[in-house]
Amino acid sequence: MPIYWGDLHNHCGISYGYGSLANALEAARGQLDFCAVTGHAMWPDMPPRQPGFEFVVDFHERGFAKLAAHWEEVLSQVNAANREGEFVTFQSYEMHSRTYGDHHILSLSPDLPLVYADSPAALLAALGGRPAIAIPHHVAYVPDYRGIIWERFDGATSPLVEVYSKHGCGMSDQAPYPYLHTMGPRDGRTTVRRGLALGHRFGYTASTDHHAGYPGSYGDGRVAVLAEAKTRQALWQALLERRTYAVTGDKIACRFEVNGFPLGSELGATRREVMLDIRACDALDRITLYKNNVPWRIIEGPSLAPRPAETYKVRLEMGWGWAPSGYLWEGDLRLSDGELVGVETCFRGRSVLAPSEETAEDEAINALENRLLAPSRDHLAWRCTSFQNYTTLHPATAALILEIRGDARTTLQATLNGVRAEVSLGELLEAARGVHLKPYNAEAFLLHRAVPEWAYTFHGEWVDEAPQQEVDVYDAEVRQVNGQYAWLSPIFVEK
Ligand SMILES: [Zn+2]
Repeated sequence: MPIYWGDLHNHCGISYGYGSLANALEAARGQLDFCAVTGHAMWPDMPPRQPGFEFVVDFHERGFAKLAAHWEEVLSQVNAANREGEFVTFQSYEMHSRTYGDHHILSLSPDLPLVYADSPAALLAALGGRPAIAIPHHVAYVPDYRGIIWERFDGATSPLVEVYSKHGCGMSDQAPYPYLHTMGPRDGRTTVRRGLALGHRFGYTASTDHHAGYPGSYGDGRVAVLAEAKTRQALWQALLERRTYAVTGDKIACRFEVNGFPLGSELGATRREVMLDIRACDALDRITLYKNNVPWRIIEGPSLAPRPAETYKVRLEMGWGWAPSGYLWEGDLRLSDGELVGVETCFRGRSVLAPSEETAEDEAINALENRLLAPSRDHLAWRCTSFQNYTTLHPATAALILEIRGDARTTLQATLNGVRAEVSLGELLEAARGVHLKPYNAEAFLLHRAVPEWAYTFHGEWVDEAPQQEVDVYDAEVRQVNGQYAWLSPIFVEK
């Protein structure tokens, strides 16, 4: 089954985010196979208006009213963007809740009605039989502070849980990417691993929760789905069956099976043949297979044995500089004595996570020109936008990941905004190469160190004949050297 990439939870100006729905759909089409664009719709137990909270209460109420006033337009624009086999869209909106934690409602139905209810379950029940699920997100916030309440979780209506987004990672209270938003810290009672420990069954997703109309924005969360076809029906079926996994940004291709059953499955067996196959986007750093929330097998990337490589991955990253509202790159790359066999885009939109009193309404905030032009076997051209890094620890760069078939003699000739660099794959295997556009205070681009195939691929098979519990839960985490992750949905195996 092919892997398709999407973003099922992100916002724009249809409610209290920024940027137009049309730009959001355009951005999604640029680097994803499917998406939903989520309207903020309701907060049944919103704290009352009180001094100091006026702005927060007001922007929520205005956003909910805006969505309601334009719901029919949103439905038709999202439906019009759906092209079976090319790019798939789903209808969606969001319920905030202190009692249940926040959820986004996702539906297969093209005419999802906007209904109001006090709980995700009551909302689904009021949809007149239309197929829909409720996905909890940013689950690891403090209980009553819009983190999940696992005691009220129901895997029948919520087959999937969002484990990563712009908010950070909710896998555990020791996971990378801690929560740093004003909504507060991560709490061990509401993490994903806590939910598994309580016996709940669900699969993993990630989505950006972007608030300025840039679904799929690199580094903020994307979901992978193993589906029969790129159609609404096939993708929906895969979501229901939890054939999903979460990534931070890089499209790390993973297969994870027990006795031939894909991730998300439930099966019964005392002898378990576990298979994990990975084709990553950067050198693998660590792969951890978990059994019942405890590391069961750990594979250290640096200990993988070098083998002859046919292909290499080279990341070309663009940015730095002084342009908070964007810098346009025009790039051109030629290869000699080698072949370009794949290109992956790591494009970002301007980052907004929640409205602020400073951010003005701007329909065009992320009307960006981010696209590949005419890729061929030895040539690639593109236009993309980078931003000044938000802090020295928070990148806002753009990048391409090139997969190249060649050897040490293969030469890359890159010309970006008129500045040329020529470097061989042999040189890039030794060291990365940075190039500035001007003598001082300028944007720069970086040809990262080349990664040979053996360092970004892995295949492992194990047999486990030691059941520990009535239901043993297997899941996996993949970490690359560049800090990008994949979290693979659990497989539930009964004795
Ligand atoms: Zn949201």
